[in-house]
Amino acid sequence: MTNNALAQHIARLIEETGPIPLSHYMALALGHPDHGYYMTRDPFGAKGDFTTAPEISQMFGELIGLWLADQWLKQGAPKRIAIVELGPGRGTLMSDLLRAIASVPGMSDAAEVHFVETSPVLREAQKARIPHATWHDSITTLPPLPLFLVANEFFDALPVTQYQRTRQGWCERYVGLDGEGFAPVLAPVPLASDAALPAAMRDAAEGEIAEISPASTAIAEEIAARIASHGGAALVIDYGHAKSATGDTLQAVKNHEYANPFEAPGTADITAHVDFETLAHAIRAGGADAHGPVEQGAFLTALGIDGRTEALSRNATPSQRQNIESARQRLTGAHEMGSLFKALGITPRGGTLPAGFA
Ligand code: SAH
Repeated sequence: MTNNALAQHIARLIEETGPIPLSHYMALALGHPDHGYYMTRDPFGAKGDFTTAPEISQMFGELIGLWLADQWLKQGAPKRIAIVELGPGRGTLMSDLLRAIASVPGMSDAAEVHFVETSPVLREAQKARIPHATWHDSITTLPPLPLFLVANEFFDALPVTQYQRTRQGWCERYVGLDGEGFAPVLAPVPLASDAALPAAMRDAAEGEIAEISPASTAIAEEIAARIASHGGAALVIDYGHAKSATGDTLQAVKNHEYANPFEAPGTADITAHVDFETLAHAIRAGGADAHGPVEQGAFLTALGIDGRTEALSRNATPSQRQNIESARQRLTGAHEMGSLFKALGITPRGGTLPAGFA
């Protein structure tokens, strides 16, 4: 299992410096410049490892575009805005979104498209669809404009840190070597303070695992601060839980099946559940309002996915009609993506409740 180049690199690192933080392992597995999972491939679709909402149906990006357009109009239709996507994958969501806002007079003309993307392979795919976009390695270089931003399945890919409650206190979980393989190991010395953990996790019983994502919190707070000072609105859509709770949610997926995250790093997608309560807290700390999270099914239904399904079906063949309806089901069904996935809205402080969050 240490027989791929990234596994060898990580094993050497551990031999030289000792066990590494889980967040470091996850960042290398996904983002190592030569061997990281996202850096080397297009992971989407039936032939890939997993399928995301925008790849299921154009309705997803269209409805998000209309949500952003509604916010743009409510904020007085500013003349220059940035339409931003974090982790745009193949660029499918953005192209559906841009088509939808083209029906809103003046919005396309006001908009510059900005992508935050680290993968060179996916940047190429995005460029093929949206040639006039501007690319960024991180949100720090986004322009000082009103930001109309979407992040779908972005936050679940950001590194997490884990702690386990022991008799001595909270000990960080590291990744060490166990014979030929990798395995979690606990730091011998507990944290001096549990201040980094959400309050709901602090009194957990011995053996429980607390998972946090400092990178996610920092990004959410920065987006909120930018929206607070320049205007705009954002939607974070991802799978995760509405309330902070303990538990190890790290998972790996390969060929549409679960895999062991500690085996063959760089060859499977590694993600963790998004803690929406902690994100909402960070957004408020950044000076903006956080709305929700609401379940994706309820959110898309409130935005009119049923009407859109009907409209698209009108000129469709029977088999196309079936595909459109099954896509609607996959996006909204409680046992499909409708409940596990959730939407969190960000708007400037003191505005009215955005669409879909009533
Ligand atoms: N939003 C797309 C893709 C989701 S997969 C969709 O819904 O289909 C995650 C995306 O985030 C990929 O484009 C990946 O390359 C990108 N990504 C992962 N970690 C990142 C990071 N730290 N900074 C920027 N982009 C990142």
